[in-house]
Amino acid sequence: MSTKDYLEKDYYKVLGVSKTASQDEIKKSYRKLARKFHPDANKGDSDAEDRFKEVSEAYDVLSDDKRRKEYDGVRSMPSGFRGGQQGGGFGFDLGDLFGQQGGQGGAGGGTGERIGDLFGGLFNRGGGGGTGTRPTSGARRARRGADVETDVTLSFGRAMNGVTVPIKLTSEAGCPSCHGTGAKAGTVPRVCPNCEGTGQETRNLGSFGFQEPCQECRGRGLVVDDPCPTCHGSGRATGTRTIQARIPAGVADGQKIRLKGKGAPGENGGQAGDLYVNIKVKPHKVFGRSADNLTLTVPVTFPEAALGAEIKVPTFQGPPVTLRLPEGTPNGRTFRVRGRGSARRDGTKGDLLVTVDVNVPQKVDDHTREALEKLHEAGDGDDLRSELLQQARQE
Ligand SMILES: [Zn+2]
Ligand SMILES: [Zn+2]
Repeated sequence: MSTKDYLEKDYYKVLGVSKTASQDEIKKSYRKLARKFHPDANKGDSDAEDRFKEVSEAYDVLSDDKRRKEYDGVRSMPSGFRGGQQGGGFGFDLGDLFGQQGGQGGAGGGTGERIGDLFGGLFNRGGGGGTGTRPTSGARRARRGADVETDVTLSFGRAMNGVTVPIKLTSEAGCPSCHGTGAKAGTVPRVCPNCEGTGQETRNLGSFGFQEPCQECRGRGLVVDDPCPTCHGSGRATGTRTIQARIPAGVADGQKIRLKGKGAPGENGGQAGDLYVNIKVKPHKVFGRSADNLTLTVPVTFPEAALGAEIKVPTFQGPPVTLRLPEGTPNGRTFRVRGRGSARRDGTKGDLLVTVDVNVPQKVDDHTREALEKLHEAGDGDDLRSELLQQARQE
């Protein structure tokens, strides 16, 4: 019986009893139904045969207090746990969880442990545990490691230049003491004599046989005589590992980087999952980012904007460059300094976008006042706004 069976089959309904039925009621109902659908009494009737099988299976679980509890537990799981959410972020699925659990003979780490504890020996079939899409099978199926997601905060400069950052990851991995075998140093697990390494055993119920996880090895196919003292024979350990993640130059705030194969290790030779790094970039005092370009606002004086000027502007981590403002530069105009932006994937660079901010003096000394008054007399404020005033009168 797989997780899938537990999720899909309503054993109470099959036996026609309530969820709170006593063992006596369950037994009584089972006997009645078993007699009714017994193959001996229904020769050649395949429907009856199926029903008999169902009834036997239901009774098998519900008559055993421990298994009934486990069954009830699975059935009451939130539906999110039921589906096989493959891939993506933190997604894990029942199959992985229980397969892991069984494949390594119990005691998982992290989330696995929580669920594992809850449902105890139920899922101790090796590598099996149906997600609903794949059949339960061999004890040592290769399994891809889970994808892992983490946040990394970088200074502006490190994001621009690229950096290798150590990332600490907590994950379930093979026990370092026994290298995942679960056996004490100097010993090796032996092939389970009960199931001859298959992890499955056949239980006979009347004329039908059911495949079940081997009780002896808990579905693992191997038995450990001297358990590893570190992991108590599970072969699993929850450990922290630090990986060196290479963050490419030019990453931007909010970007997500995929580092292939840096996620949780695979099992039984399966490939490792991927690590997704969410990049956060601290803002810079002066420079901003706009796609591959850097942005910068520079103050200019009114005469510089009006008459034109050559002004010195800073570049990021480079010498200042000279920007030529043409005569009559309006406030807010943006100029492009090529190749002084952020690194692109192809090795080229974006541009530096310089926006001018015409500065209005806050303090005016006598000398400046005189100059400004002269300027005022030269121009005519009324003329500047006459068109506006006229247009405003229109409907
Ligand atoms: Zn076995
Ligand atoms: Zn160990």
